[in-house]
Amino acid sequence: MPKPKLAIYWAASCGGCDIAILDIEEKILDVAEFFDVVFWPCAMDFKYQDIEAMPDKSITLTLFNGAIRSDENFHLAEVLRKKSVVLCAFGSCASEGCIPGLANFFKLDDITKYAYLQSPSTTNPDQIIPGPLTKVPEGELRLPRLWNTVRTLPQVVDVDYIIPGCPPQSNQIAAVVGAVIDILKHNKPLPPKGTVLGASEKCCCDECTRARNVKKITKFVRPFEIIPDPDLCLLEQGIVCCGPSTRSGCGAKCVSAGVPCRGCYGVPENVRDQGAKMVSAIASVIDSTDPEEIEQIIDTIPDPLGTFYRFTLADSFLRRAQR
Ligand code: SF4
Ligand code: SF4
Ligand code: SF4
Repeated sequence: MPKPKLAIYWAASCGGCDIAILDIEEKILDVAEFFDVVFWPCAMDFKYQDIEAMPDKSITLTLFNGAIRSDENFHLAEVLRKKSVVLCAFGSCASEGCIPGLANFFKLDDITKYAYLQSPSTTNPDQIIPGPLTKVPEGELRLPRLWNTVRTLPQVVDVDYIIPGCPPQSNQIAAVVGAVIDILKHNKPLPPKGTVLGASEKCCCDECTRARNVKKITKFVRPFEIIPDPDLCLLEQGIVCCGPSTRSGCGAKCVSAGVPCRGCYGVPENVRDQGAKMVSAIASVIDSTDPEEIEQIIDTIPDPLGTFYRFTLADSFLRRAQR
């Protein structure tokens, strides 16, 4: 019997999700033995034409990481949707936009100008800005056209499951892969469409062992400015920790190491907007009822928008409507 086919793709991604897959250690051998890997640009040399030529629904499972930032990303999202029985948004970029989604604070033109002309580390004496089509003596060079707005995978194609995290934790990936192999081997039913795999429904605070004593704070600080109490909630010590607005599943990894949760597992089941939820969590620890003083305390939060929406801007209430 032919093996089930597996595809792994990276769109607008940093490659961390691909590395996280390799980090499942010896379990990667189970993957290689059980699946026929038909597409994995990060690890093997496959051509887009090979995938485009495959019959529809011939790929059993596609793990799609990275956001949708260009015509190329969009084309591959459409192709892989058509060719796959199950399409998973793998990691924060694919499911919620993540760091690439922060580009939606700016216009594409401004980002391009800054990157190629204005940044302190740029040397570009001929003021060359790459475009989708460049004429050179040898012919035409084509690059994928970048979109003005970064999109999530579920915003552009129908997605079956979400595996959150930046990147998803390797133990969770191993558990999901093991469960998929078990389902396929024994012909078991798939989880309901839309299920978030490799995480739980609650928030990161539910996994965190730090004590909360409802201490009220008068100033926010950055982690390097204080030596935090190792047993107390970081938020109650004035360090902005996005645990209340973040899905659990990572084992509260950062907070147990003394680093605030930045929110990479995205929104928990009962939260729609990560930033809005954080505003409410922040409001609950501020020790003042005086509007002016509250404003002063809030002013001590560095980059609130980038902190509260670091992973979910592209999928938030503040998401951009225009393409
Ligand atoms: S989710 Fe994180 S690790 Fe994965 S591609 Fe995006 S930025 Fe990289
Ligand atoms: S806010 Fe952060 S430190 Fe406090 S309980 Fe939640 S996860 Fe733990
Ligand atoms: S603690 Fe927060 S930022 Fe760290 S891995 Fe977990 S969800 Fe991601």
